[in-house]
Amino acid sequence: MSKPRLHILALGGTIATRPDASGAMQMGLGADDLVAAVPLLGRLAEVEAETVSRVGSHSLSFDQIHALAAKIRSLKADGILVTQGTDTLEETGFLLDLMLDLDIPVIVTAAMRNPALTSPDGPGNLLAAVRVACDPWVRAHAKALGVMAVMLDEVYAAADVLKVHPTRLDAFASPQTGPLAALVEDRIVPMSLPVRDAIEAARTRIGKASGGAAQPVALLWMGLDEPGRLIEAMLAASDRLGYRGAVLAAMGGGHIPERMADSAVRLAAAMPTVVSPRAGGGPMLRQTYAGPSSEIALRKAGLIWGGRLNPLKARVLLETCLRAGLARDTIAEVFDAFG
Ligand code: GLU
Repeated sequence: MSKPRLHILALGGTIATRPDASGAMQMGLGADDLVAAVPLLGRLAEVEAETVSRVGSHSLSFDQIHALAAKIRSLKADGILVTQGTDTLEETGFLLDLMLDLDIPVIVTAAMRNPALTSPDGPGNLLAAVRVACDPWVRAHAKALGVMAVMLDEVYAAADVLKVHPTRLDAFASPQTGPLAALVEDRIVPMSLPVRDAIEAARTRIGKASGGAAQPVALLWMGLDEPGRLIEAMLAASDRLGYRGAVLAAMGGGHIPERMADSAVRLAAAMPTVVSPRAGGGPMLRQTYAGPSSEIALRKAGLIWGGRLNPLKARVLLETCLRAGLARDTIAEVFDAFG
């Protein structure tokens, strides 16, 4: 049987760093270097490696990921692997998932420990990602699995995975749903298939969206006694600041401090404003609490309910909806499907 043809696209990140003269790690390695570090890859797959960029994922843009999605759509391969930094993997992976509708595995992987350390995880993660991409169960269910992230011998849905620690090796998890599969010995052990109805519905409305211009979305984290002055500044200088939408990372089941409720309601009248749980993921409440900044009041006043989406994922989805030119009510329907 012929080996699967995999295309590796390298964006940068810790997995692609090397030390400079001072010993500090700089972006520098390309896709060929990453492949050369794992000689076993050639036994599993026909690998084509391409360096797309050499940047830290903290500096990637929505535009770059849209261009990447277009490139992926144009490739003839049995599977796609993207290597990048870990910092925004939970966002870029979700955006790719919204943009791509392929029946081949698309996997994002990265490294927490750089190549100069004694036990870098990049080569192992790349090998694991290749094994996942070649696995018969994964290939048979590629469409149902959506874009995946492979880190530390676990396979996650890009739509659910979160970076939950800044430095530890086990920095990734899907707290709401758990992993899709695990790697053990030479096996991929399937564990679950994701529920993707809301993503599919969103994708149908969004289309390919890559033609649209960037739509800045503010992410405002609600903390104890937050006065809401940034929202007032956004309302006062909306042309200068240029934000087209906002995500409020709200407390608990969807609450914000009462003192800023009026500002939030006026913001929602000025631009699509999504409420998403700062606790990391939903679902949120819809009809439990009374009061001017409760979920009942905020929903009635026109704030869009982010459902189970974590604030970072909600921001990605809102930018994508705005870029696609969706109207506020359609955006609300897209989010509503997320519970
Ligand atoms: N901040 C860099 C990035 O996201 C390095 C972090 C990493 O790759 O783990 O690319």
